[in-house]
Amino acid sequence: MEKAVKYDVVVIGAGAAGFMCAIEAGKRGKSVCLIDHSTKIAEKIRISGGGRCNFTNLNTNPSCFLSNNKNFCKSALSQYTQFDFIELVDRYKIKFHEKKLGQLFCDNSSNEIINMLLSESRKYNVTLKMNTKVEKINCLSKAYEIKIKDITIQCKSLVIASGGLSIPKIGASAFGYDIASQFNINIIKTSPGLVPLQFDQDLLTGFSKLSGLSVNANISMGKITFEDDLLFTHKGLSGPSVLQISSYWESYRNIVIDFHKNTDINQLLLDQKENNPKKEIQNILATFLPRKLALLFCDLENINGQIANIKNDKLKSLSNKINYFNVIPIDTEGYRIAEVTVGGIDTKEISSKTMEVKKQSGLYFIGEVLDVTGHLGGYNFQWAWSSGYVAGNNV
Ligand SMILES: Cc1cc2nc3c(=O)[nH]c(=O)nc-3n(C[C@H](O)[C@H](O)[C@H](O)COP(=O)(O)OP(=O)(O)OC[C@H]3O[C@@H](n4cnc5c(N)ncnc54)[C@H](O)[C@@H]3O)c2cc1C
Repeated sequence: MEKAVKYDVVVIGAGAAGFMCAIEAGKRGKSVCLIDHSTKIAEKIRISGGGRCNFTNLNTNPSCFLSNNKNFCKSALSQYTQFDFIELVDRYKIKFHEKKLGQLFCDNSSNEIINMLLSESRKYNVTLKMNTKVEKINCLSKAYEIKIKDITIQCKSLVIASGGLSIPKIGASAFGYDIASQFNINIIKTSPGLVPLQFDQDLLTGFSKLSGLSVNANISMGKITFEDDLLFTHKGLSGPSVLQISSYWESYRNIVIDFHKNTDINQLLLDQKENNPKKEIQNILATFLPRKLALLFCDLENINGQIANIKNDKLKSLSNKINYFNVIPIDTEGYRIAEVTVGGIDTKEISSKTMEVKKQSGLYFIGEVLDVTGHLGGYNFQWAWSSGYVAGNNV
């Protein structure tokens, strides 16, 4: 015989957003069931920030998020701020530090954040069902029915917190988008974000010689610019500045890299030609760039030897490579290693004040499954906490 169980609230997806929502709803006395198909709890939190979870950013504000609907995130971010989450972390005596640019990391381990969420959810009697596959969702007149193997759960409020498509190996699935389709909710096209970029074979051969080298660079695409470290890898380019621009990148668009911001390299080379004509070009470049990178630029321009023997138009072309390295990535490394999914549930369908679907009473979407994507630096978790909090207080 199939068992039937009733809860006030069912949350599907026990990640950052799902936990936060379940805890807040539990605090309000709601009976809550938190379901996840994975065997491991909050695996993304565990692996985040290199195992130390960059759990928020001191500078969180709406301009740090991508969305087709720019204003959508404002209400949730102001209802539950980075300082509210810091207060919770403080209450659990979790030690943390600012790494750079307002990014807060645990001193010890991201497991401390997971344990904190588990402890809060126990405190508010949240029923956690891991390793549980949802087979079907039905909408009744004033409730939802969730079919799980031999159990049917009925609830008044159903919250979808199943995240995006990044890293399927640890449980990412298209579940949230499928549910959106079931209820005729629009989806903004998704793409991998915060992901390394790939290049054609010629450039890749050059880049792979530099694999492991990290340099500061300014990367832009149109008016969007990020300055941070850039990392050469065997497969292309990575590092914070590249990951940031990748969230904005669309196929066939070029990116421009400035490897020595604030210096007019052409002028610098012309001055050197006049004052140090016998100096080798690669040695001149190596005074302000890592030598391997200096050699790559010389190779790309097919030049070497004393600067006196290099024509000015060649020097101009070389300096353009350093200040305006204009390149079209061929692709990203995809959802397999992307940190986030750009796009998702169209926020025009969702109330920004409650996270409820406007045309579908009792159905909520929170976290990364929505078309809200943060920059690198703790913003994505803050979105998960904020949107989870808001839904938890409205279910
Ligand atoms: C390697 C890596 C490092 C990161 N580091 C950081 C960082 O330091 N700081 C930061 O702010 N952000 C970071 N992020 C991004 C951040 O982890 C996500 O934005 C955030 O976890 C999203 O929270 P969420 O709750 O919406 O989704 P998730 O955390 O992805 O949780 C979704 C949950 O739903 C479950 N689920 C999926 N499908 C189903 C289904 N069909 N049935 C039941 N359950 C399902 C999944 O198992 C998962 O537990 C990182 C991401 C990655 C991949």
